[in-house]
Amino acid sequence: MTRPPRVIGEADILARLMSSVAPTRDSRRLERMEDLVSLCARRGFIFPSSEIYGGINGFWDYGPLGVELKNNLKATWWQRVVRERPDVEGIDTAIIAHPRTWEASGHVEHFSDPLVDCRACKKRFRADQLDEAGPCPSREGTSDHDFTEARQFNLMLQTQIGASEDAASMAYLRAETCQSIFSDFKRVRESSRQKIPFGIGQIGKAFRNEINPRNFTFRSREFEQAELEFFCHPSERERWFDYWRRERLRFHIDLGLDASSLRMREHGKDELAHYCNAAIDVEYLFPFGWQEIEGIHDRGDWDLSRHSEFSGKDLGVTDPQSKEHYLPTVIETSVGIDRTCLALLCDAYAEEDLGDGETRTLLRLHPAIAPIQVAVLPLSKKLAEPARAIEAELRRRFNVFYDEAGNIGRRYRRQDEAGTPFCVTYDFDTARDGKVTVRDRDSMDQERIGIPELAIYLGPRCEFGE
Ligand code: ATP
Repeated sequence: MTRPPRVIGEADILARLMSSVAPTRDSRRLERMEDLVSLCARRGFIFPSSEIYGGINGFWDYGPLGVELKNNLKATWWQRVVRERPDVEGIDTAIIAHPRTWEASGHVEHFSDPLVDCRACKKRFRADQLDEAGPCPSREGTSDHDFTEARQFNLMLQTQIGASEDAASMAYLRAETCQSIFSDFKRVRESSRQKIPFGIGQIGKAFRNEINPRNFTFRSREFEQAELEFFCHPSERERWFDYWRRERLRFHIDLGLDASSLRMREHGKDELAHYCNAAIDVEYLFPFGWQEIEGIHDRGDWDLSRHSEFSGKDLGVTDPQSKEHYLPTVIETSVGIDRTCLALLCDAYAEEDLGDGETRTLLRLHPAIAPIQVAVLPLSKKLAEPARAIEAELRRRFNVFYDEAGNIGRRYRRQDEAGTPFCVTYDFDTARDGKVTVRDRDSMDQERIGIPELAIYLGPRCEFGE
């Protein structure tokens, strides 16, 4: 039975954001995913992996603009969750862990989805998502599918290590990045001399053999996660759970996601994963509905106790004052980098009427995460030399794109579509007054700025505010 989601209000944060910039022109948000998918392919954000071979279902490549957006998002997470915090350490672990890891974690036993086959069209579906299966193309007289009984399908991808192909050489590509945080817990705590409470964060690839990859990159078979495992005393679990759910919502809002398209949904007891005592999803309103982009979980001492048991190593800690020996409770925040990139792109996408039947498509990405921050556009090729000098100077601080070809209006439109927040135009007056025109992507306002002041003007505008 599906419960109505309980939405947790974040009045203070939301109120602050509701007052943020409203577009002044007639503007349409993204309604059809196809529009975004086509922009992403056309402009080199994201496109099917192995495209020349017809693609491979559930795998995506990030092109020159996509990789910049993704890297900016990862750097923002790392800065905020790891670097700015004295109580968090970062690590980067191997994708393939000892196979016992996945027995201890419960993935071998539990990490599966219910699978059904249609005997007529031979397609496979997730039994809990059959309402999205659509009519069966192979059944004459009726469009109903002819489903088999549901059976459990394990989502972990397997591989072989070494030259032999026996069972002992079988390994898994990790299904989540956090398990090696648990197995490295003791080493990291001792080497960093951290005391409870503290956290360990990691960004990396994860692999799941999803039955039905869909909704562009939303459900992929290879994706990236940024996970924090925060270890605290069991008596402090509620306090830290509450702290991290607020902190993570604030993160998504600071990225520039529209606050009215974000909500937090608490899991009912019947929905909780085997390792979870409590869970809240951060959900974003995609064109295909409200969907999870991050999970915040109270994992209790499930992982540390299981890895202690399976490895025979005591992963407990001793309180320096009370001498109590205990297994810390884990509060986890697990965000999908690809899903958040997708939310950012959906949220930023807009089509604006400019009058006279002209429209422009733009990505209103926050300048701090936009792939290109500044485009340098000389009005004429004859002005290339001084414009190139500005480009070289700005490249030391910003991600810069240079383009001297074609009509300036068309060049602006191309940058709007790439989400570039600022265009700097070197024109025929620049040599005389030493000023360039800076055009703002969202308002399309133009300002004359002295060349020596350019970096000072752009710098704070390309950063996250306080
Ligand atoms: P779902 O219910 O949508 O399958 P989940 O609850 O299994 O997701 P978690 O195991 O909590 O997801 O993983 C944490 C995050 O990793 C998710 O919030 C999501 O952003 C990301 N993620 C999980 N599975 C995928 C996937 N197949 N493709 C892209 N991102 C994913």
